Amino acid sequence: MSKIVFFCIPAHGHTNPTLGVVKELVSRGHEVWYYSYELMREKIEDTGAKFIPCDKYDREQKLTPKEAERLGGDIAFSTEVLVDTTLALDDAVCREMEQLKPDCIVADSMAVWGKAVAMKLGIPFVSSTTTFAFNKHSAKIMKQSPKGLLSMLFAMPKVNKHIKRLQDKGYPINSILDIIQNDDNTHTVVYTSPEFQPCADTFSDKYAFVGPSIRPSTGSIQKEREKLVYISMGTVKNRMLPFYRNCIAAFENTDYQVIMSVGQQVSMGELGELSANIKAFHRVDQIAVLEKADVFISHCGMNSASESLYFGVPLVMLPQTTEQGGVAERVLQLGAGIKPEGTNAASIRAAVNRVFDDPSYRENAAAIGAGFRRCTGAAGGADKILSLCRG
Ligand code: UDP
Repeated sequence: MSKIVFFCIPAHGHTNPTLGVVKELVSRGHEVWYYSYELMREKIEDTGAKFIPCDKYDREQKLTPKEAERLGGDIAFSTEVLVDTTLALDDAVCREMEQLKPDCIVADSMAVWGKAVAMKLGIPFVSSTTTFAFNKHSAKIMKQSPKGLLSMLFAMPKVNKHIKRLQDKGYPINSILDIIQNDDNTHTVVYTSPEFQPCADTFSDKYAFVGPSIRPSTGSIQKEREKLVYISMGTVKNRMLPFYRNCIAAFENTDYQVIMSVGQQVSMGELGELSANIKAFHRVDQIAVLEKADVFISHCGMNSASESLYFGVPLVMLPQTTEQGGVAERVLQLGAGIKPEGTNAASIRAAVNRVFDDPSYRENAAAIGAGFRRCTGAAGGADKILSLCRG
């Protein structure tokens, strides 16, 4: 039996897709250690893996809100944070890995310390990629702006200074790309289908596109009208009161049934009075809603988009980040959704009507969903990891 160690960042969207794979490995009798964060403890322990907290090492957990805003955009600062976390984990994790002697390390593509430790100790490594896999072909869909490229160029000397800190500690890393990019030599599990992944045929055979992992619904919802519209902007940047109000104005007293998930940061009072056809919640069982929905107005997080398409539900898309923009772009390419012209009530209603009026959106969404169902799923992810285990 093999010993496998997982590393992840404190984000549900990056943790959830791995849980099915971990469960599968445990059910086949393998031992799994999962380095993560207290807020993920329960769901990780539920899989049968041993949970190991790394909150105290993570520099990101200690950032001020102002510093946190610089992450992602400011590449030098982002590298500093990643290197600080890797070095804070260095002693403890390297010691533990030397004792444990794992047969394989699996790390989220953003938990770069997992890959760094595997490289340092020469342990087989698998990258766990919960967004699209990126190479020079698929990256075109992300549309990096000239401003972004320029700031990257100017940041490089500082980035290299932090990479040198890793090299000084014995990490065989030449550049930031060694740890952040999906390259053809790194074994990689990607939680989408080869059809939905842009340019899937440009990735090496070290890539396994195992499909999204869709959790079962916990109940079912009542469909009260012929047309059901679901609205959610995800769980992270979802404090979007003016937008929710526009949605309410778009659909109040119409023959659409509307279910809105507005997150924890908006109070129901702020939304004002709702007409009988609209219901708002802080959180819903999204899978149960999508089983019945006809259109999903979404921020296009990778999980939300995948869940929607899995159930053949076309999307009206309002991406808020570059990553969500990439997902929306792919959905547009495949004809399974549209972007509204604006975020006012009239634009939102017009976009939803357009999706209802043209059956091709639903057909294309269903075709992507069928592709997801053909994927190997958690069993395929587990097979990929086990194929690399030494011993
Ligand atoms: N979700 C849910 N209920 C809600 C809102 C969201 O269960 O009311 C789940 C949704 O099913 C998805 C995840 O939260 O699995 C959101 O992930 P996504 O990648 O779409 O967006 P993020 O929240 O990371 O921006």
